[in-house]
Parts: sequence; structure tokens; C-alpha cells
Amino acid sequence: MTLEQTATGYRSDLFIGGRWRGGSGERTFPVLDPSDGTVIADFAVATEEDCVAAVDAAEAALPEWSATAPRQRSEILRRAFDILTEEREHLAEIMVRENGKAFADALAEADYAKEFFRWFAEEAVRIPGEFRLSPNGDKRIVVTHQPIGVSLLITPWNFPAAMATRKLAPALAAGCTVVLKPASETPLTAAYVVEVLTRAGVPAGVVNLVTPERVGPAVERMMAHPAVRKLSFTGSTEVGRILLRQAAETVISTSMELGGNAPFLVLPGADVDLAVQGAVVAKMRNGGAACTAANRFYVHRSVYDEFAGKLTDALRGYSVGPGIDRANKLGALVSVKERDKVADLVDEAVTEGARLALGGRKLPDGAFYEPTVLLDVEHGSAITRTEVFGPVSPLVPFDDVDEAVRMANDTIFGLIAYVFGETGQAFSVAQRIDAGMVAVNRGVVSDPAAPFGGMKQSGLGREGSSEGILEFLEEKYIATAP
Ligand code: NAP
Repeated sequence: MTLEQTATGYRSDLFIGGRWRGGSGERTFPVLDPSDGTVIADFAVATEEDCVAAVDAAEAALPEWSATAPRQRSEILRRAFDILTEEREHLAEIMVRENGKAFADALAEADYAKEFFRWFAEEAVRIPGEFRLSPNGDKRIVVTHQPIGVSLLITPWNFPAAMATRKLAPALAAGCTVVLKPASETPLTAAYVVEVLTRAGVPAGVVNLVTPERVGPAVERMMAHPAVRKLSFTGSTEVGRILLRQAAETVISTSMELGGNAPFLVLPGADVDLAVQGAVVAKMRNGGAACTAANRFYVHRSVYDEFAGKLTDALRGYSVGPGIDRANKLGALVSVKERDKVADLVDEAVTEGARLALGGRKLPDGAFYEPTVLLDVEHGSAITRTEVFGPVSPLVPFDDVDEAVRMANDTIFGLIAYVFGETGQAFSVAQRIDAGMVAVNRGVVSDPAAPFGGMKQSGLGREGSSEGILEFLEEKYIATAP
């Protein structure tokens, strides 16, 4: 399809070399509204040749873009922030339609997403360097940073705007040109964000957007292109491992934001009301479809019944339904397939002896699943080992804090953990947890100014903060006369 816009007004084309166009094969794939299964757009399928053309366009645009003044790049990013501030509701609506999330979640994501443009507009003009005398006085050590080059950005469906801006903003601030490959469930959000960047003044070829149908071979082909020097990926650990192997072929620098399995610890002496408040946010933000979502709750037996009762009360009566209706606090999962995965995990836990305090059912229509609380779950059962990605809270009681720390660390993942307890003890437990991020007595950590990333198989590198831009810069040392 070569139309620039669909009947619903969503842009649904590839963007290559500054031009919106259909795929060379003239084929499209449907984008669905998961709340009712309707087709909301037909998006262009990129052929492998289209993908290579996108990398070629990024390569051609690199010399000029990397030579622009940092202030110029900064001001373009700042304009993108301003546009998104004006159009946040429109962005939120696109996300609700193709992802299914509740409107409030989509609006929160729109605000989070645009902040990466403002933050990296500020970082673009503060790229660090060093100038010092060597210890024996024989030379000057000059350390500069230069853009790493053409960067391939691959993003997931759960935060279709923020995961894209968290990569686009530092890459552009650093002076890199990019090819963005969004998740096939949520290409409309990506196309809109790219359009915002063009309206903000990003020159042709600097940002390109492709949506291949056979993603594996298409990405492999792009990674084999000699111009590609960076792969920044957010998605599952499973796909991350494949891409790391592929990156080894041409020794591409990689940033990997992968899966999580966040433990949520409620220690003896915790303020239970605060812990419940934090649990609701850590679990229900984005309907539980977040890599940061609290995945398994370890609750000290002294506060277990109180925490379980209050959490169940807080989630009972949560309105579930299409996100476009702003009264609904919990929207649809991204697809019926994802919803069924969640349902299967809950059913298995119940078969293994866990007790349902709340929920545990699919809704009859659309990809909806009720808020669910599971009691007396066994540590080590499938639901505590799998990233649930849905509104399910499995509770495991514990008697001893050391045992809780051991269970929290008993995973291949290490993205984030939540600890609720008396401040001193909670802080000391936070230091013993193998995770890139720990929230102490709070339910959310994400902030463009903070380093986001995981330990162990949750990833490599950090996004956001002052480190985020370094992922797209190559350090160069020049030795010169003293
Ligand atoms: P996914 O299946 O790994 O897909 C992520 C992206 O990779 C999509 O664009 C997908 O394209 C693409 N992809 C799939 N197979 C590929 C291959 N063989 N080669 C190259 N690209 C490939 O993950 P998802 O289901 O969209 O997202 C959920 C996962 O992302 C969860 O594990 C979650 O924890 C993680 N996540 C992590 C963070 C973080 O910051 N650490 C943030 C958000 C999400 P298609 O859609 O076309 O298949």
C-alpha cells in the first residue's frame, strides 16, 4: 500500500531517506485493536531490500548529521519535546488503540516518552571529554567522543513510544543516524514519533523506519551491512541472545534492555499501607506489561495476611475494559495470545496449590484479564520463574530476611527489585539484591535522568541519565605534545 495515511488518520508507511512510502513488495500487515480485534490500519511490509535501503540512507546522512553543531541537534530534540507536549493526548490515543493499554497508562507513557527528548536535548551540548598531562609529563592525553555511527534500534510493543524515544533521543543527540524497527504489534506509535521528529527538523535520512515481516533475516541482513556500528535492543532475553550472537559476526557494539522477573519484598516492620500502595503501582502500571512490573511478592509472615487482604481490596473493583474509555483503569493485553499465556500461568499455579484471592479469569470478549491475586504460591513454581506480563500478583510468605534475599536473587534476571521495610534495613537489603535498579519504599523508578538497565541476563548497558548518550559515542584518545 502506498497511501501515506489510512482512513483512520494513522500513518502506516515506511520512512526511508526522508520519504514516506509503501514497501517494495506492495504488501501490508494488519494492525489490530486488542480490545475488540478490529483492524485499525494496514501497515506497509518492508522487504529486505527496503531494510538495506534504510541503512544506506542512514549511512548517506551520517557525515552531515554528525558534523552538525550540538546546539542544533539539541534544539531539534527540544522542538520534538514541545510538539509532544502539545500532542500528548493524540500520542496516547494511538497507543491505546494499537496496544490496548488504559488511557491513563498511555498518557503517563506519552509524558515519560517526551521527557527523553528534553533530557537528551540537554545532554547533546554536554558531551564529555578530557585533557590532561601524562604522569611522566611526556604528552597530553586528549580524550574525545565521536558518534558511533549508523545505529539500529529495535523496540518492543509494551511501551511503544518510550522505548523508541529512549533510544532515538540519545542517538540523535550523539550525532548518529538511525534505523528504527518497532514491534509489529505497535508500528503506528513509532511512525507517529518519527513524523514528530521530521516536523521538529530532523533532516532526511537521519531517522528511518522499517517494518519487515520476516524480522529475523531482515535484521540479520541489516546487521551485516558494514555501515551499522550499533545495535540498541529492547525486548525479550531470548531474542537478545540471538542478536548478541549475530552482533559478534561484525563486532557491533550492543546495548541490551532485556526481560525481568522483579521481586517485591515486604520486610517485617514495613508500613503495610505504603507497601500496598507501592505494589499497586509496581504491578498494575501498564496493566502489568512492563519489564519493571513486580512479578513475585515475598511477604514476611508477620504482615502477610494484612498485606494480602489490603492488596486484594485495592484491586477489587478495578474497572477493566477498553482503554479508550477513560473510566477503565485496566485495558486489554496486547493480544489474545499474550492474554492466554497469562491465563495458563495462573491456571498452572492454582493446579499446583496456590489459592485465588481475586480474579483468575479472562473476560468473554477482547484480550482482557482480571486483576488477580494468588496466595501461598511456591517459590520456584512456573509463575515465579516466568515474566508474567499481566495483572497477576503471586504472593509467597517468608520467615527469614536472608531467605527472602536468596529467593529474590534466585533468577537469571536482574533488572529491578522493590523493597519495603524500615529504611535502614530496606536499604541494606537493596544492596544485597542483584539488580540494576532497586526501588526502596516506592513503586516506580523510571526517570530519564536515572540510569535504566539490568544485571545478569536482563541486559547490557544503561539508558537514560548521562550514560545513555555514551552508548552512542565512541571514545577516542589522541596523544599529543605536552
Ligand atoms: P520480543 O519478542 O523480544 O520483540 C522485541 C523486538 O524484537 C520486536 O521489535 C520484534 O519484532 C523484534 N524481534 C523478534 N525476533 C527477532 C529476531 N529474531 N531478530 C531481530 N529482532 C527480532 O519482545 P516483546 O514481546 O516485544 O517485548 C516484551 C519483552 O521486552 C519482555 O521480555 C520485556 O521484559 C522486555 N522489555 C524490556 C525492557 C527493558 O528496558 N529492559 C523494556 C520493555 C520491555 P516483531 O514484533 O516483528 O516480532
